[in-house]
Amino acid sequence: MKVVVVGAGIAGLRVVEALRDKGSDASIVLVGEELHEPYDRPPLSKHVLRGDREPMFLREEYDSLGVDLRLGVTATGLADHVLHTTQGEEGFDHLVIATGATPRRLPGAPGFVLRTLDDSRALAPYLAPGRALGVVGAGLIGCEVAASARSKEAEVHLVDVLDRPLLRVLGPVVAQRIADLHASHGVHLHLGTGVAVATAQRLELSDGTVLEVDAVLEAMGVVPATAWLGDSPVTLDDGVVCDGTGRAGDGIWAVGDVARWNGVRREHWTSAGEQAVTVAAAISGEAVVHDVVPYWWSDQYDVKLQGLGAVSGDDEVVVVEVGPRTRPLAVYSREGRLTGVVGFSAGAAVMKLKADIAQNAPVADVLAALTG
Ligand SMILES: Cc1cc2nc3c(=O)[nH]c(=O)nc-3n(C[C@H](O)[C@H](O)[C@H](O)COP(=O)(O)OP(=O)(O)OC[C@H]3O[C@@H](n4cnc5c(N)ncnc54)[C@H](O)[C@@H]3O)c2cc1C
Repeated sequence: MKVVVVGAGIAGLRVVEALRDKGSDASIVLVGEELHEPYDRPPLSKHVLRGDREPMFLREEYDSLGVDLRLGVTATGLADHVLHTTQGEEGFDHLVIATGATPRRLPGAPGFVLRTLDDSRALAPYLAPGRALGVVGAGLIGCEVAASARSKEAEVHLVDVLDRPLLRVLGPVVAQRIADLHASHGVHLHLGTGVAVATAQRLELSDGTVLEVDAVLEAMGVVPATAWLGDSPVTLDDGVVCDGTGRAGDGIWAVGDVARWNGVRREHWTSAGEQAVTVAAAISGEAVVHDVVPYWWSDQYDVKLQGLGAVSGDDEVVVVEVGPRTRPLAVYSREGRLTGVVGFSAGAAVMKLKADIAQNAPVADVLAALTG
């Protein structure tokens, strides 16, 4: 059997590792566009960006994995069980699409983006005293960069068209706490206003504000990296459309940020690894059910935000205080049923609720147990 994996990020690499863990003796090719060996992306907006830590490569060696790792090779097309790459053609029995996502850009792409190790290294010099950074987009990456930049004493302007950071995903109550966190660390918040004109060192906002900065970071979210699949047999709709086990077609699978499983595309590190294990099991012929409670985290200043469950900005939210340090825990529900939680440095309390979230327990019972 021959398995070709496209995209040498966490999802692609974990598929290869999980196949070997299951004893697969398939011939495996892992194709990656970047020249670096697979590395971890979360530190790119945190320790690596601040210069506190070296990049974290995901493996020390590849020999024991028995994989044909082809770096600096780009997949360009897919047709009739043949993958086209900048290196030629590759037949396969199973193809796993793990090409991740690419940042959305402002018109003319005047600023920096943050997706790769090279991006992080290019942005790092602007996180310094006396430098001013304009961050467009107050999502997870924008907020993390703002926090990292403040810790290096750079001035930060955080701009978002919505009137609170992360409003759509986390709802107004938690979003307000995140806005307050950034304001308390001296971030200049420009919320509820878009960018009218942007150049490399100037942002003109739609409310008339003009910001002169040393660098602009475009952090307005990502789009799935599917451009190369335009004429392929897979269905594209905000990512590669898959069933609930990652199957996108006959012998074709997708995992990670690029993949939309049962109508949902997740852009989180843990989901990428969990999906990889499920797809490796399916390729190995196991009967699989992908039944996980989604998890994500984000480090901002001294706060570790942790989210568990599939919450929506429209859910009901009650914030309770948990543990001896009275840490905030936001409890999300829909129609009286628990959908998930978001903790502010409340990891133990978050994780304890996993079973309740999986069962969509009555939220009144959960709140009574938390506060009783
Ligand atoms: C700065 C940053 C911080 C983050 N922090 C967190 C965090 O704190 N918590 C959290 O839960 N998640 C975080 N994430 C999200 C998490 O890192 C992603 O969900 C995860 O990396 C997705 O893995 P992936 O393998 O699907 O995609 P990627 O990691 O993007 O890997 C895809 C790979 O495919 C390659 N590729 C693309 N197109 C082609 C092609 N045509 N041919 C060959 N190769 C190709 C790309 O170059 C890339 O190397 C962060 C992401 C970023 C960028």
